[in-house]
Amino acid sequence: MRIANTVSDSIVDGPGLRFTVFTQGCPHRCPGCHNPGTHDPAGGREVSVAELAAELAATSVVSSKELMEDCTVTLARENKMP
Ligand code: SF4
Repeated sequence: MRIANTVSDSIVDGPGLRFTVFTQGCPHRCPGCHNPGTHDPAGGREVSVAELAAELAATSVVSSKELMEDCTVTLARENKMP
């Protein structure tokens, strides 16, 4: 999978403390986007699920199990609406 970056202890990407993965290649081009670096499908870095899982396992979010309450994955997709 191609990702823009990760944040190991985000408090702004959902309820509670989260390990956040920002995927790369967003096709939406929203006016005023705060993350234009995520648009280029060739940008970011390629990671395997195993590498991402290892990165997650090494964070304080996971080592302090009481802090990890949930997992959310959000993927950008082409808008297929007519
Ligand atoms: S969906 Fe998010 S990342 Fe993509 S262009 Fe819109 S604001 Fe930016």
